[in-house]
Order: sequence, then structure tokens, then C-alpha cells
Amino acid sequence: MSSHVFGRSAAQLPTALRGDGCYLYDAEGREYLDACGGAAVSCLGHSDAHVKAAITRQLDALPYAHTGFFTSEAAEDLADLLIQHAPAGIDRVYQLSGGSEAVEAAIKLARQFHIENGEPQRHRLIARRQSYHGNTLGALAAGGNAWRREKYQPLLVETYHIDPCFEYRHRAEDESLEAYGHRAANALEAELLRLGPETVMAFIAEPVVGATAGAVTAAPGYFRRIREICDQYGVLLILDEVMCGMGRTGYMFASEAEGITPDIVTIAKGLGAGYASIGAMLCTGRIYDVIAQGSGSFQHGHTYHGHPLAAAAARAVLESMASQGLIAQVQARGDYLAAALQDRLGQHAHVGDLRGRGLFRGIELVADRASKRPFDPALKLHQRIKAQAMAEGLMVYPAGGTVDGREGDHVLIAPPFIISEAQIDTLVDRFATALDRAIDRVNQ
Ligand code: PLP
Repeated sequence: MSSHVFGRSAAQLPTALRGDGCYLYDAEGREYLDACGGAAVSCLGHSDAHVKAAITRQLDALPYAHTGFFTSEAAEDLADLLIQHAPAGIDRVYQLSGGSEAVEAAIKLARQFHIENGEPQRHRLIARRQSYHGNTLGALAAGGNAWRREKYQPLLVETYHIDPCFEYRHRAEDESLEAYGHRAANALEAELLRLGPETVMAFIAEPVVGATAGAVTAAPGYFRRIREICDQYGVLLILDEVMCGMGRTGYMFASEAEGITPDIVTIAKGLGAGYASIGAMLCTGRIYDVIAQGSGSFQHGHTYHGHPLAAAAARAVLESMASQGLIAQVQARGDYLAAALQDRLGQHAHVGDLRGRGLFRGIELVADRASKRPFDPALKLHQRIKAQAMAEGLMVYPAGGTVDGREGDHVLIAPPFIISEAQIDTLVDRFATALDRAIDRVNQ
């Protein structure tokens, strides 16, 4: 079949026709259990009646009004709701259309803050090697995956990358988790001192690393030490919660688990839950005030920022989460999923690490458990597992991140928050089958 779609099309992919709860159905009538929410997006599943009704109501009343002329009730309500849930000190919400836009806005806001705060020389960004922050040119510069950036050098933002906090591979055998977390965080201080802290605008990190690494949580105390270092050197802390935020880890904001407040935080994916294309950049009142009292406004904007239809959908997503008690459910079902994965795969010869928080779980595959040696990257095992899982009627998110300069294979599991225990059993069953079949093929 020929196609005019730029990218993967009907020749390579099934055509999705219908969604219901945790399931998607294709044009051939095949059913897929959505165990990854696409890319940790569909947190309410595919048929939330409250969100659908809210979108219809907003569509009837007002689909769009340009933010240069009007604010809207939907955008105002959404901002209020987000601030009610946000870490103390976060005070303003800038609504955008997705994650990359939110990260671009965060980087630009950090730059403008320092300019108006009398430190225009602060233009450099520090990020971590194990990270993904989006595909637009500024966000791409921030991301840690060298293969994504290479073709587009030189990139727009001067970014330096430090080691991530990655206990499975980087903690020394005789080192406590806390000591390792402290050591990993101190890499930021060393990099600041090397560059000259007065040249650095911000440090950006995902509180739980998603797409590049498969739900890597930080060691206890890592982010508290990062916060201390940022404060000491006048560097803004940007937390990218595009994938791990909005309840996914069992906290509305993933940073809650770390006990810190960022200066800027980005969210998307679960914010619209797949019902609308929306992201947001949130910042402290302090940043907002410096700019408001300086030039007067953030020099930014997109035609679709603050889109009423998207805002109404996101407001309804938050309402649905509250009315169904989904944050608490994520914690309970997350524990159930973790235990089921541990039971079924904890001793598997090719499962090196099971990790994550809430309904955000990662599985790292290794050729050899004892040495943690990865599979040959040319095999692209993570992609084979995804394909095999689709054949078993299961969607999981494959990731091939760089591990110590080599490709590693991870799979991300991030199902809708409404998933039942019985559906988790099916998920783990289908996943274990897909994993064994994919590995059998590469070992043949
Ligand atoms: N930041 C993180 C942590 C992400 O995981 C992603 C997408 O996967 C992005 C930013 C970019 O978001 P989007 O794809 O909506 O532009």
C-alpha cells in the first residue's frame, strides 16, 4: 500500500482504529494491551468519558482564542489546579503544545532570567549523558544521547554532559547507596568548577530517567545534593518531568519523592493523557518576578500556547485522576507490577536489573548477568522485544541507551493508571513470553 505519511506508515505498522480502557484495536481486529501508554502518555487509558465530555463541551463553547487577545477559563483553571499540586514555591504555568516545546521554553526562560538578573554571561547548560529532553534543536542539545545529536552539530545551546546517577552500573561494590548518590551529584560541582560557575545558566535532569534508560531512579540524597550545588553556584535547576511527571511515579510531581523544589519544571505526555497535545513549563515566583520587574515579560510565545481545547482536556485529566483516586492507585498497582515482574523475571538469565517507581518500570537486558555485559548493540534486542510483544498483543516501549559508551537494551513499562491486577498478570505473562521468544531468536 502506498502512503503519503512522512515516516513509518501502513506499510510497516498496523492501523490503530479504536481504543477502549487499557486496550487498542487495529484495522484487522487485533487487540493490544497498552503496557506503555504509547510513550508514557495514555495514563487514563483510551476511553475516559469525563475527558471526552469536557473536550466536547469546550469545543462547543470555544475551540480557540489567541493568548495575545484573551485568556480562557480553561487555561486559568488548569494553571490553578497545577499550582495546587506543584512543589511549594512553584507559582506560574506557561502552557505549550508538548514536551520539546516545554523544554525549549525552560532553557530560554533560564537564559532570560540570568540576563535580567544582571548575569548575561550565564549561557551554558549542564545535562546528563543518560537523558532525553526532546527533538527540537535546543532540547536536542540538552539530551545526552550522542547518536541523536551528532548529525546536527553545532547545536544551538552550549551544553556539557556529566555522568548520570546510575546505581546499577556505576556504584562501587563497597559503596553505600547514599555515598554513591553524593559522589554522583558531586560530578555537577566538578563540571561547574571546570567551566567557571559564573558561565552556567542551568542544570537539567529527569528525576526518573525514561526513554533513554528505562526508569532509572536516583540514589537517595542525589537530588538534595544537586539542589545544594545549584544554590551554592547560582545555577537554576530544571527538572524535566515530561515522561515521569503527572502521577506516573505515584506522586503528581516526581520531584516530591526527592524532597526538593526545582526552579523550573517541564511536564507534557500524561498532562493531556493523549486526549490533547499539551505540555507546560512551570517556574517559581522568584523567576517570574525578576522578569516581570525587569523587561516585563518572557520573550516567548507560540500560536497554540494556552490553547483552550488542550487546557480543557488537561483540566479534565486532573479531575479524572482525583475522582478515581489514581495517584494512590499508581502506588498500589506499581507495587503489584514490581512484585509480579520480580517473581517472573527476577532470576531470568538475561534480566540484569528491574527498577523504577510507581507505574514507571524498567527492565535492563544483559547477555551475561554476572558481568552485566550488554547484548551486541547491532542485534537491537530492544526493538526485537517490542516487535515480538506486538505479535503477542502487548505494547512495551523499547529503549537502547548508551551504557558506558556501549549500547544497552532496556524496555519501559508504563501502563495506564487504571490497569487492574488481572491485566497486570496478563501484561507480565505476555511480556515474559515475548522476551523469551526474542532472546531465543538472537541466541539461535
Ligand atoms: N523530555 C522528556 C523527558 C521526554 O521523555 C520527552 C519525550 O519523550 C520529551 C522531553 C519531548 O517531548 P515531546 O515528544 O512531547 O516533544
